[in-house]
Amino acid sequence: MAQGKWIAGVDIGGTTVKIGIISTDGVIHKKWEINTDKSDGGIHIIEDIWASVNKQLDESGIPLSNVLGVGLGAPGFIDGDTGYIFEAVNIGWKNYDLPKHLKAISGVPVFVENDANVAVLGENWKGAGQQEKNVIAITLGTGVGGGVIANGEILNGANGMAGEIGHMTIEKNGRLCNCGRSGCLETIASATGIVRQAMEYIESDKSSGKLVEHVEKHGVLTAKDIFDYAAQGEEKAISIVNYTTDVLGLMIANMGTLINPSKVLIGGGVSKAGSQLLDKIKESFDKYALERVSSICEMRIAELGNDAGIIGAAFLVKQKVLHVSF
Ligand SMILES: [Zn+2]
Repeated sequence: MAQGKWIAGVDIGGTTVKIGIISTDGVIHKKWEINTDKSDGGIHIIEDIWASVNKQLDESGIPLSNVLGVGLGAPGFIDGDTGYIFEAVNIGWKNYDLPKHLKAISGVPVFVENDANVAVLGENWKGAGQQEKNVIAITLGTGVGGGVIANGEILNGANGMAGEIGHMTIEKNGRLCNCGRSGCLETIASATGIVRQAMEYIESDKSSGKLVEHVEKHGVLTAKDIFDYAAQGEEKAISIVNYTTDVLGLMIANMGTLINPSKVLIGGGVSKAGSQLLDKIKESFDKYALERVSSICEMRIAELGNDAGIIGAAFLVKQKVLHVSF
C-alpha cells in the first residue's frame, strides 16, 4: 500500500486525458492516459476520469481517505475561483459546473483551472521555475498559450482572461487568428504561424531557396524544418526566426514591465529549438525591456513536457487544501 497523502492530477485535452497519482511532494506515483470521449457534449468525460482514478487508487492500495483531492486543467475559459467552465470549445463544454459534478460522484475536494495556468503551476513547482513568486510562462505549440504567476498566485483577472498571451495584438491589420481577431501573437509565433510565414514567402517568390526546394520535394514544411534551415545559414529561414523571436522578445518586454518576473519559461513544441530560440528571444527582450526588468529576469526552456499539466493540477489541490503558495 502506498503510504501518505495523494492527489489526482488531471490534464484534459481534446484527444486524451492525462492522469497522475501524485504525492504532496510532487512525485508521480503512477501516470496514464484515457481517451477523451467528446460524444453527447462531453458529459461522459468526468465519469470516465473518476472511474479510471478509482481503479488505479484501488490497485495502489490507496484508500479514498488518503486522497487530498482532484485537480484538473482544462482548455477554455474557466472561472479560476470556482472552477466553473464558461466554455471549452475543443471538448464541447459550455456553462458547465465541473467541480460540482465531480465532487458529487467522488466525495473529495475538486479544483479546476485553465490548462495553461495549471502548466505554469507545474513548471514553477517541479520544473524550470524553481518556485518563484513572479513568473511568465509561454507555450509555443499549435497555438500560443500562457500563464502568469504574480505574488505567488495564478493571475486570473476579472473573468479568467489574464495571461491569454497568444491573443495579444502584435500586428495591426495582421493575419486572421482563431479567436476571430487579427494580428495576434499566435498568428506569428505558434508552430502554425512560423510555417505560415514561410509559406507566404514561398508563394511570393518561388524562384529559389532551400525552403522552396523543401516544399517542392516534401509537400510540407514544419517549424522544426525552418529552425534547422536557419541553423544551416539559409537566409529566408534566418529572417523568419529573427522576426518571430524579435516579436516574442518585444512582447515579453512589455509584459515584463507589468509583471516584473524573475523567470520567463518557454515551453511547447517550438521550444525544442532550445538555445537557438531562447538566445534570440533573450537578445530581443534585453533590447526592449527596462534594464531593471531584464537584469532580474532569467529566461529558461520548460522542463516537464507533458507532465506539467498533471503536476500543476496536483499543486492546485495542494495549494487550496494545505494553504501553501510559492
Ligand atoms: Zn487571437
